[in-house]
Amino acid sequence: MKKVFCIGELLIDFVAENQGKDLSKAKEFSKKAGGAPANVACTISKLGGNSFFIGAVGDDPFGTFLLRILENEKVDISLAQKCETFTTLAFVSIDADGERDFVFNRGADKELTYDATLKSKFEGNILHFGAATALLGGSLEETYSRYLFDGLTKNAFISFDPNFRIDLWKNKEDIFIRKCHTFIEKSHLCKFSLEEAQLLSGKDNLKEACQFFHDMGTQIIVVTLGSEGTLLSTKDIYKTIPSIKVTPKDTTGAGDAFIGCLLQQLAEHSKIEDVLTNDYLLSNMVSRANKAGAITTENFGAIQSLPTSQQLDA
Ligand code: ATP
Repeated sequence: MKKVFCIGELLIDFVAENQGKDLSKAKEFSKKAGGAPANVACTISKLGGNSFFIGAVGDDPFGTFLLRILENEKVDISLAQKCETFTTLAFVSIDADGERDFVFNRGADKELTYDATLKSKFEGNILHFGAATALLGGSLEETYSRYLFDGLTKNAFISFDPNFRIDLWKNKEDIFIRKCHTFIEKSHLCKFSLEEAQLLSGKDNLKEACQFFHDMGTQIIVVTLGSEGTLLSTKDIYKTIPSIKVTPKDTTGAGDAFIGCLLQQLAEHSKIEDVLTNDYLLSNMVSRANKAGAITTENFGAIQSLPTSQQLDA
């Protein structure tokens, strides 16, 4: 089984509860583990895969809290770093219509330093890059690019999720697009939401958007479409694979559960190239990943709602 290295941020989301959108009026917050690459790592380990988290937290109680959660989920945290900068914190309030107020205190996640000894560990394995904060600068951004280069040198399978957050890139979308393109053109697999696919390709039409990404060099594109399932596009396949019917309570982490489940299945194949040309196999994998995403919406929170393989088999 291949190892999956998930690289990016791990942070605390302080979620204001039942207090409307205005963060200035919020009185109570609940502390939740956040960070898409960390959620992906937890999904993989929960489904029996071998996942590593590579990212930085502060040497403080919040950092301890976050790493403990990953450890409890059986994610290998031996490559995670603790640094002197405080753990990254996000404060968010959401009203009944989904309108958000957001304050971001960026800290330790940007401090991830490059470790040249990891290159040999990447050999023939899978690297997943989740870019919510990585492209915002700090040593993380350079480390991120160097691991991409190391992964390619060592024939690793590269997966990329841009994790676009409008709160972080307002009025700087063009910079985000340019930075993401560097990763898209070198990735074997890209996972987009509909909004990301359109933003990063500059095309409203999804088929044209996928063609744009294939022309850049990406072999597999998955565009997650919420309750409608996922669009799968390869050189030979272009189809929407439906999801299962659920009653969603909280969609946080559905996309991470989806890509985590897909990567965990790909990790079980010694030659991923063979899967890419097998319509039946790849479609079944996406269908199972849809189920993982759907189940995650049935409960509040991300990590605590991730499915087990028994649930996916049922
Ligand atoms: P995120 O907000 O975590 O970045 P995303 O926008 O990429 O996620 P979604 O499209 O919300 O992800 O969900 C990922 C996958 O989970 C979907 O492609 C779908 O298969 C499944 N899913 C999500 N919501 C539902 C739903 N309401 N009903 C059925 N399946 C769902």
